[in-house]
Amino acid sequence: MSDFDVIVVGGGHAGCEAALAAARLGVRTALVTLSLKKIARMSCNPSVGGIAKAHLVSEVDALGGEIGINADLTGIQFRTLNTRKGPAVRATRVQCDKEIYPARMLSLLKRVKGLTLIEGEVGGLIFGNGRLAGVSMCRGSDLNAPKVIVCGGTFLGGMIYIGKRAIPGGRFGDPSSEGLSVSLKGLGLRSARMKTGTPPRILSSSVNFGRMAPQYGEEPPPFLSWFLKKKRLFHVEHEPGRVPPETASLMTCLFHVERGKFEYSLWPPGIGQIPCFLTHTRRETHEIIADNLKQSALYGGLITGTGVRYCPSIEDKIVKFPQRDSHHVFIEPEGRNSDRIYPNGTSNSLPEEVQLKMIRSIPGLEGAIFIRPGYAIEYDFFDPTMLDPTLECKSIPGLYLAGQVNGTTGYEEAAAQGFVAGVNAARAFQRKSPFILKRADGYVGVLIDDLVTKGVDEPYRMFTSRAENRLSLRQDDAFLRLAGIAGRIGIVEESDLKLREDISRAIRERVRDFDTRPGAMGTISERICRGEIEAADIHSGTEYERLINEHSFTFVKYRGYIEIETAMMQKRENIEKILIPHDIDYKSITSLRTESAQKLDRIRPVSLGQASRIPGVSPADISLLAVWIKKLSSKDESKKAVAQCGDVDMDTDEH
Ligand code: FAD
Repeated sequence: MSDFDVIVVGGGHAGCEAALAAARLGVRTALVTLSLKKIARMSCNPSVGGIAKAHLVSEVDALGGEIGINADLTGIQFRTLNTRKGPAVRATRVQCDKEIYPARMLSLLKRVKGLTLIEGEVGGLIFGNGRLAGVSMCRGSDLNAPKVIVCGGTFLGGMIYIGKRAIPGGRFGDPSSEGLSVSLKGLGLRSARMKTGTPPRILSSSVNFGRMAPQYGEEPPPFLSWFLKKKRLFHVEHEPGRVPPETASLMTCLFHVERGKFEYSLWPPGIGQIPCFLTHTRRETHEIIADNLKQSALYGGLITGTGVRYCPSIEDKIVKFPQRDSHHVFIEPEGRNSDRIYPNGTSNSLPEEVQLKMIRSIPGLEGAIFIRPGYAIEYDFFDPTMLDPTLECKSIPGLYLAGQVNGTTGYEEAAAQGFVAGVNAARAFQRKSPFILKRADGYVGVLIDDLVTKGVDEPYRMFTSRAENRLSLRQDDAFLRLAGIAGRIGIVEESDLKLREDISRAIRERVRDFDTRPGAMGTISERICRGEIEAADIHSGTEYERLINEHSFTFVKYRGYIEIETAMMQKRENIEKILIPHDIDYKSITSLRTESAQKLDRIRPVSLGQASRIPGVSPADISLLAVWIKKLSSKDESKKAVAQCGDVDMDTDEH
């Protein structure tokens, strides 16, 4: 018998979700990571959520993942972004306590049944009888398991750059992971380089906050996690050690590390959340950067990997927007009791002395003292089109890849993949059908489908524009829309799913009431659509009543658009349901262009819908393929193939 059923390599945001999901589904799981103290460490900004990323977090949370709860419980500032825009793009952003976030996650991981935490470096994969059999450790004996999930993040072949200095590392203060990367490449997995960067960290007492505009959090805090919202909904007494007590309007989750345990206590009234501050770069700041551009690792030719387009370094901003005199800099505390400030917007790879000069030219930062300089990092990622939608590697059964190793960026994207890989590895071990979320189900489905179908040529981050039916995929309704799927996965408790069903029913009844109750000026629904009733007008009563009203209002207001979206999704759904036999030989399809046959053969899509999204595969190719599948399905052997493929989507009928 193997040592474990599933081994997760890497204790970052992907690895934590993968390990938790697998262990909670009842398989013997090991999480092997370089340093236990650095589990779930936030390599860059200690914030979770934001536009589209919050959607991912709330979906993972609704399915039984941990990132949302962990962020909420360790949050120091909570805000809703895009409040002036429609509900589809509204999103929660939580600034977390950088030290407490990983500490709380570690404390939880230690308590999960069936999960073993191991500190050490995995050097490669091991095989037995031609099958994946576990991992080899750089020090110590091999660990056996039939399923391995690699979540190595930015550590694989990681190289840190500060100006012209290049230091091997997976993150500041951490070693890089070389052996594992070499081992994966040796197995024929395609890899390339990507890069990202981070700003310097500044000593809080050296900042003149008086010269900056404060930005306060929202009260009551808009939680990311349904499970915390639920506690507020019913003022449920907290379970000791699990969920904090709450008062109506105060952020009340403060952790104390006492005798190695976490306990919750009320945050003293009147203190609440802590503010961030806003300042800006000046012309002088830009001149310092421009004068020293050649000394930057990014512009001095040292880094070749592709960077995050939508999260540019300050060097990028100066070069790409030379006409601008100023850029925002958000001054964000890294914790409730932390002396560290994160100057958001100043990520760079300039030499340290140039960074200091540049930072000191920003109002309020004239006396800034560095705790450490900013830096860029370049690392190996692996082409995600080598993976199935379960995140299992097509050429190495039993091997799963999740997180930044798949070319994504961000804690949220990593956590979502980790959850999907963890659930699938556990289900595969238990010989259950795979868990695949469709694009129409949520952003997690969009993320995985994009990765495995289109691949990445720059670090992939989530946007609401990537989803076809974004009005139906709001952050606030993730716990309702994914309740059925959560039930089938089996991590979330029955009582919780029952509550979600009750809420859905109450919303349907309230909408019926809005539609039918006559009034002097028409029904409530008519008045909502004419703009005579605003959301705030019907937001009264208990927290529960407010929730029902809020969801009913949004549904009525956007019903017309939602119906159009749903009709379009149903049309697309038809082609998603046409499954492609897994052993299809694309080269034998007469008239199919060679280029398309090669692309289809490389991705090996599970459905016609997925095939249609492969870049370079044309509608004409899809028609040919459809005819071919139809022909095949009339033959006996193809019926067998379709039946096998039918297993792939456990939710085909209901969704
Ligand atoms: P990571 O969080 O990197 O975790 C990897 C884990 O694997 C670590 O615990 C490590 O110890 C472990 N590990 C690696 N190799 C081995 C091995 N061989 N054996 C055992 N354990 C191993 N994201 C953004 O969205 N915006 C940003 O601006 C941004 N800036 C960043 C700046 C920097 C400098 C860095 C380093 C990252 C930045 N990120 C940013 C990315 C963000 O940190 C990642 O997206 C996220 O942490 C990825 O999570 P992960 O779980 O995939 O990997």
